[in-house]
Amino acid sequence: MTNLLTISGLTVRFHLRDAVVRAVTDLNLTVRPGELLAVVGESGCGKSVLAHALLGLLPANATVTGEAHLTLNPDNNPDNTAAGTRPAGTRPAPYTRPASHGRSFARSGLFARSRSFARSPLFSRSRLFARSRPSAAVDRIDHVDDVHRVDCMDRVDDVHRVDRIDQGEGGPGGCVDLLACGEKMLASTIRGRRIGLIPQSPATSLTVVRRGRRLLTETLKAHGRDPRLADQVAEQAGLDSVDLERYPFELSGGMAQRLATALALAGEPPLLIADEPTSGLDRPLVDHTLDLLRRRCDEGAAVLLITHDLAAAERVADTVAVMYAGRIVEHRAAGELFRAPGHPYSRGLLNALPDREFRAIAGHPPMLTALPEGCAFAARCDRVTNACASQPSGPVACHHPLTSAEVPA
Ligand code: SF4
Repeated sequence: MTNLLTISGLTVRFHLRDAVVRAVTDLNLTVRPGELLAVVGESGCGKSVLAHALLGLLPANATVTGEAHLTLNPDNNPDNTAAGTRPAGTRPAPYTRPASHGRSFARSGLFARSRSFARSPLFSRSRLFARSRPSAAVDRIDHVDDVHRVDCMDRVDDVHRVDRIDQGEGGPGGCVDLLACGEKMLASTIRGRRIGLIPQSPATSLTVVRRGRRLLTETLKAHGRDPRLADQVAEQAGLDSVDLERYPFELSGGMAQRLATALALAGEPPLLIADEPTSGLDRPLVDHTLDLLRRRCDEGAAVLLITHDLAAAERVADTVAVMYAGRIVEHRAAGELFRAPGHPYSRGLLNALPDREFRAIAGHPPMLTALPEGCAFAARCDRVTNACASQPSGPVACHHPLTSAEVPA
């Protein structure tokens, strides 16, 4: 099956007056249709920066390098299962974009162009347009063999071209490099329409001058769906219809989270990025939200779940990527990782769970402005040797990974 998202060498730097923050370094990941990939790690390890880099939402002082190809028309061959790690009998159905998906701008409550929205510190236009890209890639469209790949575009013709590829021109596999996209392209064809985002802080991301119902109906209309589905979509997200009559500032944190979830689901995007979607929710709503994300995957969409909640990841994820100090240190099938972690940091995270050893990892993560040349976990690792002065790599990025014999049964 074609990957829906292929990230290669993603590197993000924030340039401060007297330092450079190495937020994400040489990150490689793939996500297939029907796969729920959980990205886990301590706060500040770069998880949310990854999401914002994919959507072009980083601040002006960020530079982004690497590639992130989003496949516009993946090969939905059901014989090629998505994650390949789901239990038998739970194979996801192939995702088919609804015919109603129009060309209109996905004017969701999260990505609206209203003046109030534009003043948001997270999504302000000045910050968006200042995002740095490799200049040589600008305004270039590539054809690679039989596959149509759009490397970078911000013209009306390019937007049309992406839509034609999305509708099947050139056959399966046409893709767009998100990191090379201009803001016009991201706003008109990517955000909300092909990638939905449940943001980490919905209360500050929602357009505050519109009631929830208006935000949701406008979003549904923008995606060519019946606005009368608002109540149904809200209910899917666990939000009561009566709460749609409130302004975002009248909602509790949990309600705002559920409204943001409903807005992200409204366009039925093939890829959903959920950035800590369960924060601020009580246990029943956590379960409800996780089940909702799992159901989206079982319907054929893909979900990138960013969370520090390992129990949530264990409950719903097909695959897990563990991040530490801006790097992926372990990326494996969820069942394998939770049963037998290979990286000492993954083991430390699991041992910190209340239902395991409930023992925190000693020490603190390194400053991202002063990372060591070798393994960034060395100062906290009980297996460190001289070899760890060089950077480890591989699916388990460790010079001395745990063996199955070292993992308690
Ligand atoms: S590379 Fe060395 S320091 Fe890093 S996690 Fe592995 S054993 Fe520990």
